[in-house]
Amino acid sequence: MRIPLIAGNWKMNGSLASNAALLDGIRAGAAGLAAELAVCVPAPYLAQVQSALAGSGVNWGAQDVSVHDSGAYTGEVSVAMLADFGCRYVIVGHSERRSFHGETDELVAHKAVRAIAGGLVPIVCVGETLQQREQGETGAVVMRQLKPVLDAAGAADLAKIVVAYEPVWAIGSGKTATPEMAQQVHELIRATLAQSDAAAAAAVRILYGGSMKPDNAGELLAKPDIDGGLIGGASLKAGDFLAIANAA
Ligand code: PEP
Repeated sequence: MRIPLIAGNWKMNGSLASNAALLDGIRAGAAGLAAELAVCVPAPYLAQVQSALAGSGVNWGAQDVSVHDSGAYTGEVSVAMLADFGCRYVIVGHSERRSFHGETDELVAHKAVRAIAGGLVPIVCVGETLQQREQGETGAVVMRQLKPVLDAAGAADLAKIVVAYEPVWAIGSGKTATPEMAQQVHELIRATLAQSDAAAAAAVRILYGGSMKPDNAGELLAKPDIDGGLIGGASLKAGDFLAIANAA
């Protein structure tokens, strides 16, 4: 049985004051939910989030991590540093990192494996651009993005990852994949994972991300292989975020 995960990706948003109000709202509404909640926040706010959410049952994490342990890597944040602040999750391979920072499938896989080794759960993002979808390449793109993760993680670690299917054209655009479109890709992702390990594939949570909102969450989350959501814009309003969690 896969417990749904509703994870917020705050991106580069927030301030001490606005985070405090948002975290209070999330904390107040989190009790009794069937879904697990998590927020992935900008690194400077991890201490604030740790103290605001400790004991609430809501998990937290970061939006990226270095492949290096320590040393002369200006601007980077290591897995151990995230663990120091109680992070459970770290997003790796978000399309904004892939496109703005040139992150390759191999680098993303490396980050995922380092996160697992350090006791964190990587949320591995995959997804096609609009052009790739229109050219019928969605399946091939997603499998190409996943393959280095499967090769690097091995069957034993496979069950420890979360995958997020995020069609790039749906992120922040207000356009959402239909539940059928999303389910088709989620099914393919699970089948691809099953080629490495069937039991792990059955256990891995596959989140949908891309303009998930309170009004479309229910029908997306009703699909058999959609095990939660990675939520951008709607995770910045406690009411919307909790409404999505309630739909799960
Ligand atoms: C995201 O960036 O991970 C995302 C899903 O954003 P949004 O919900 O705003 O489309």
